[in-house]
Amino acid sequence: MSVFYKGLSLTAVFCAAALFFSSCGVDLNGSEKRSKQIFAMDTIVELTVYGKNAEQAIESAAAKITELEAELSATKADSAVSKINSALGADVTVSDNVKAPLLAALDISSKSKGAFDITVFPFVKAWGFVSKEYRVPGKDELSRLQDFVGFKKIEINGNAVSVPNGTEIDLGGIAKGYTSQCVCDILKESGVTGAVISLGGNAQTVGGKPDGSKWRIAVCDPDDPDNGTIGSLAVDETAVVTSGGYQRFFESGGKKYHHIINPSTGYPSESGLKSVTVVCADGTYADGLSTALFVLGLDDALAYRKSHGGFDAVFVSDDGTITITSGLKGLFTPAQGRQFSLYED
Ligand code: AMP
Ligand code: MG
Repeated sequence: MSVFYKGLSLTAVFCAAALFFSSCGVDLNGSEKRSKQIFAMDTIVELTVYGKNAEQAIESAAAKITELEAELSATKADSAVSKINSALGADVTVSDNVKAPLLAALDISSKSKGAFDITVFPFVKAWGFVSKEYRVPGKDELSRLQDFVGFKKIEINGNAVSVPNGTEIDLGGIAKGYTSQCVCDILKESGVTGAVISLGGNAQTVGGKPDGSKWRIAVCDPDDPDNGTIGSLAVDETAVVTSGGYQRFFESGGKKYHHIINPSTGYPSESGLKSVTVVCADGTYADGLSTALFVLGLDDALAYRKSHGGFDAVFVSDDGTITITSGLKGLFTPAQGRQFSLYED
């Protein structure tokens, strides 16, 4: 059995945001520039901040990341999420740090008709993605676990949250995006002129580059995530989040099993997509949506966008075809030799 785990691969993390790091060397207009790298949420977090209060802003941002990780992790025993999961059905009072991503998750769950579902945790554990003892669970085991899965089982009254005994939540599909959104809010309040945060497959920007040009964010090639890109996006202030089966998977019996689960089957989703990159002003939604659209597949993802809007996306299908949505027209530059089609709505 072989294992690939994005969070431990420095090169893969840089790939997700390759271009903006190469663009951060010069300190134009006399503005202060500070960078910081920390390990949090199972991945390498890179912060680059421009502006007068950059030093102080970056320290406040790093403290927020530590605070959120302690509350949102499903694997740290004393986190709010773990308390909900082990409360045997009782109410647990949570902070707004926890309530906000929970409400966003439930919104995306209901709009995606359950393709996004944070109660997949029993499945995620059964495949070994938590213990890192990877295994292929039997059909019977998955069908027994199915009884505990379903986002409608989550109850939220004010700040009291409960799930039935046996049901467990995992904010892994949305927590990084919520964190980058909180960090960007802090940086904006601190008055920085520009910033980029890279958190695993998530990137989010604040303001503009010191030279006034757009941020350029590379989109990983799912077939060569350590070294290749399928192209780049030129963006202003926004979040750019990628979900893909290549980001975390193991191989057994010649087959690859990745970490994004179809909640209706318990198996890694096979929707015909290798990756989805969502461009959305809100980091929380960008993250939840990239996971949801990956499970939905191209046609249902485009239908979702038609019904709910609010984002653009770059899809890489199993056959390597790249599809971009209309808002990215003129902003996506394909890598050499790559073609793409524009979905005009
Ligand atoms: P992402 O990397 O944002 O696509 O999120 C993937 C992570 O979200 C996985 O490692 C699981 O922790 C969790 N997850 C897996 N499948 C789903 C799903 N269908 N809905 C919500 N969260 C999921
Ligand atoms: Mg996600």
